[in-house]
Amino acid sequence: MPAKSLEQVVNLCKTRGFVFPGSAAYGGVASFWDYGPLGVEMLNHVKRIWWQESVYARDDMEGLDAAILMSRKVWQHSGHEATFTDPLVDNRETKRRYRLDHLLKRQSAEVLEAICDILKPAPTFTAPSRQATISPDPEALASALIYHYREVQTHFSASTDQMKSENAAILMDVFGLTEDEVRRASADSPVPRADSKMFEPEQRDPLTAAAVLDPADGKPGKWTAPRQFNLMFVTHVGPVEAAPNTPEEIAARAYLRPETAQGIFLNFKNVQRSMARKVPFGIAQMGKAFRNEITPGNFIFRTREFEQMEIEFFIKPPQFTGEGEKTDEQWHEEWIDQRYRWWLRYATPPTAGNVEMEEIEERFRKRAQAADELAHYAKATTDIEYKFPGSLSWGEIEGVANRTDFDLTAHSGDVPEEDLKRLKLEPNKDSNQTFDYFDPDAKQRYVPWVIEPSAGVTRAMLTFLCEAYDEEVVKEPTKQEIDQIKSDAAMIKNNAEKKIKAAEKDAAAGKETKHDPVQVRAFLDQLEDVVNRLPESLDEVLLTLDHPGAENLEPVKKFRVPTEKFMEEVSRTVLRLHPALAPIKLAVFPLKKNKPEIVEMAKGIKRMFQKHFRTVYDDSAGIGRLYRRQDEIGTPYCITVDFESLEDRTVTVRERDTMEQERVAIDDLKDYLFTRLDI
Ligand code: ATP
Repeated sequence: MPAKSLEQVVNLCKTRGFVFPGSAAYGGVASFWDYGPLGVEMLNHVKRIWWQESVYARDDMEGLDAAILMSRKVWQHSGHEATFTDPLVDNRETKRRYRLDHLLKRQSAEVLEAICDILKPAPTFTAPSRQATISPDPEALASALIYHYREVQTHFSASTDQMKSENAAILMDVFGLTEDEVRRASADSPVPRADSKMFEPEQRDPLTAAAVLDPADGKPGKWTAPRQFNLMFVTHVGPVEAAPNTPEEIAARAYLRPETAQGIFLNFKNVQRSMARKVPFGIAQMGKAFRNEITPGNFIFRTREFEQMEIEFFIKPPQFTGEGEKTDEQWHEEWIDQRYRWWLRYATPPTAGNVEMEEIEERFRKRAQAADELAHYAKATTDIEYKFPGSLSWGEIEGVANRTDFDLTAHSGDVPEEDLKRLKLEPNKDSNQTFDYFDPDAKQRYVPWVIEPSAGVTRAMLTFLCEAYDEEVVKEPTKQEIDQIKSDAAMIKNNAEKKIKAAEKDAAAGKETKHDPVQVRAFLDQLEDVVNRLPESLDEVLLTLDHPGAENLEPVKKFRVPTEKFMEEVSRTVLRLHPALAPIKLAVFPLKKNKPEIVEMAKGIKRMFQKHFRTVYDDSAGIGRLYRRQDEIGTPYCITVDFESLEDRTVTVRERDTMEQERVAIDDLKDYLFTRLDI
């Protein structure tokens, strides 16, 4: 435990009905996925346990389901139209596109330091306030770079006549502007700057100068400047025949919501009044959100259509917090803690011992965002992160933000000047409401502050699947079987060494090579490491055969089939999901499918439970194989009906994690299972 690579989880999800690629018959659409019979069960369970804890288990929460499409003005005043953007950079050589902060995360410490060294003496950072923000932390450095490139572009757009051609070349080369755009940028620029030498060549283009590597080929790229890309999907409300960018077309525009939060803010007063709620109280909402992500990927980790579970928790502003009342910072801490514990609780199966529990906890962490990472509305945000397998590694699964009174004020029509100034907001002339609240105890009117825990449903499903995935050896292999693997590996090595030599020879002669010698060598190193650690590393043998360097090696193909068969005998894949998350809670099998009394009894047990939770009946294989199939999808309990059952009305109940079996009377099954499944 847990998954050693994302591919293990992806394969399981595709073959066992959790997740399918969207629109596959038409070649698929990048980053859209369909959730199959088991996937939809699991998503529903994630949402149910979240709703239970967030709404039912508390005295201070209400629920909501707002429309996905809202007035475009919502997104103008929330700041999303102007600022909900990601910076993307292109490598002009490989034509690959990356999100700047993601690209920086994949660089070595030396490269990040090199960028800092270039930026520190740059004229854009001579002011002491900016200097403080240059640090090798990838997120902070991304912000510093965006600021720097923007200033450089402004500088070179503002050209005097004699500088025009040199500046135009830089604008086209580094900033990817067309000739037309250069003409417009220069014309728009009010202050011609005198000296283009002010920016040394490496300061014009720090990413290229610092030899930032393209992860696609591992070589330094020729990078464009970061460009901001709005992540909201645009659609139109009603039939629109007008040409793009005409006032009629613009007026009909709407966005697919990129977060569910704004629907909650706009309903703050509706909920507060209709449910007679007093601050502090919160509103929970789950639903679809859409972001036109620049670099979707890592399976369902980052998709363009996903689901969120969000809470906006309304509290007193700090200036009205009385003695003994929780401050905004305390509320923030409390929510971070509460949500962190939720993640741990459901990542831990009830069968886990103390050691396993500690190991699980090491894969979850709280990370406070640096000042430069904070969204425009946030005073502070702490991300809850999970250590996903492979190169994905630490990734955000939930953000808990202190959004202050930004959103409710931004949507209010009547706001005092000083608040607009404090929150850097323009007056809202479109809204006919003011989202304030009269506090009957404090006898004061104020705009509440907001603490927002915001998690992804689909990302949660991936998190729990990665954490639950396990390949376990259930039968000790013999020395002979281990020796067989070693001798097969030696044969693969012999053959691969020859392929490496041939490929190197072809490359030297300028010919196309069938194998990539670097990749094949990397595969052999990994294989050697695994073989040296046998039998402990048995569960890594098949995984190693998926290495890109193993592709097209004939002995690998031959080795795979018997190894798969052997692994099926000695090991099992088991999803150690918390029972609350398991798509199927119970599977019932007849020991003999041609014995009508046994079949009838098994089907009767299925009928007994199926109205309470997802229960399946299966007689399509031997009992051992049926157990394996259910282990693989995380079913916590299986029941087998046999000859003895006909005599004494008892059945065998088998638990997934321990594989322990117990005889239980049919009449006691409800108590037995309901207690263990926490139903
Ligand atoms: P990231 O830094 O990963 O882009 P974010 O900070 O933009 O995430 P938030 O706006 O805080 O994310 O959204 C809250 C939660 O919604 C995230 O913690 C994540 O679980 C989920 N989420 C956000 N974007 C996506 C996406 N594209 N696909 C799936 N889930 C997402």
